Amino acid sequence: MKEKIQAKFKELYGVEGELFASAGRVNLIGEHTDYNGGFVFPGAIDKGIIAAIKLNGTNKVRAFSLDYNEATEFGLEEADKPAQAWARYIFGVCRETIKRGGKVAGFDTVFAGDVPLGAGLSSSAALESTFAFALNELNGNNIDKFELAKIGQSTEHNYCGVNCGIMDQFASCFGKKGCLIRLNCKTLEYKYFPFDPEAAGYRLVLVDSCVKHELASSAYNKRRASCENAAAAIKKNHPEVDFLSDAKRMWLEEVREEIPEEDFLRAEYVIGEVQRVLDFCDALERNDYETAGELMYQTHFGMSKLYEVSCDELDFLNKLARKMDVTGSRVMGGGFGGCTINLVKKDLYEPFIAAVKKEFPAKYGHDAKIYDVVISDGARKL
Ligand code: ADP
Ligand code: MG
Repeated sequence: MKEKIQAKFKELYGVEGELFASAGRVNLIGEHTDYNGGFVFPGAIDKGIIAAIKLNGTNKVRAFSLDYNEATEFGLEEADKPAQAWARYIFGVCRETIKRGGKVAGFDTVFAGDVPLGAGLSSSAALESTFAFALNELNGNNIDKFELAKIGQSTEHNYCGVNCGIMDQFASCFGKKGCLIRLNCKTLEYKYFPFDPEAAGYRLVLVDSCVKHELASSAYNKRRASCENAAAAIKKNHPEVDFLSDAKRMWLEEVREEIPEEDFLRAEYVIGEVQRVLDFCDALERNDYETAGELMYQTHFGMSKLYEVSCDELDFLNKLARKMDVTGSRVMGGGFGGCTINLVKKDLYEPFIAAVKKEFPAKYGHDAKIYDVVISDGARKL
């Protein structure tokens, strides 16, 4: 990919650019915990974006997307927003850098990627983080990494119409080979944990159901409201509770009769999930991937039966994983479609994938896609 990018750069601009990269991400455990002040546990993956970039001495950006085979040019003022959706990610990063007092000089770029788009691996965060990191370096801005992640997040909010949390950009900026990062979404404290399933005889593989059910955004808002309602009820007895992540399981029990059954179940899932992230980390510290995998199944159960954000296709893939003795499997991301993330013993990998390829299309009439992932470095200069 690097060679293709540099070749195109040379063809368009006559010289070579400097190479920067960043990555998509997976989240091993900790789903729907972010807006409840809990933990998430993501890592950057071996699929990302690579960009060749060179300052061009003007106040304009010339950009070429190899994957879309499309060029664009834009200025750096707010009114210069480009028409192409892909270019808005780059423009947004420029604008958000400038808003934070950073300098952004005009530049030329050619870029390409191998994160599947819209599959839940955050190709958009990979794109934002690549440019946030590169522009910081090339302009000598000295913006810290957390702020670079926030530049990506604000780009989604202000230029791409996606009201996302910080996890994706955080993982993409902070990702380290062989490590997952536990992020406390309330305090933004984080800690690296070694995660090397290959060394322990496992592989990490995503199975993409290739479905996206429409309920997602209204259901998301309803889940959030349930969580806030449950947290508010608990707070009456325990004033220190601002988020569900502050609550003990017992404290939820105390308000069982006061809140709708539905809110109770949602909160039960969240409180359990916050604890499961901690238990998952403990298991990793003992190199105990079997316990970690079991926790993934528990998360799937909770997301399916308590939080009710799974769907038939994902439950099917989860059950198939169980049947094939896969160590851990669960729906990854917000739910209602997308991928399951699976921790599989190496010698069970082939039979599991074969079963998916046979049984999923037999039931649903279309293929599931398979993505092998290895936890890798995030934003960096190559
Ligand atoms: P995801 O879940 O993968 O982040 P999004 O819809 O948030 O899905 O982001 C996908 C968008 O990001 C694409 O539509 C495109 O505009 C941009 N993008 C991601 N990867 C690339 C790429 N390799 N080349 C050009 N644009 C890309
Ligand atoms: Mg995205």
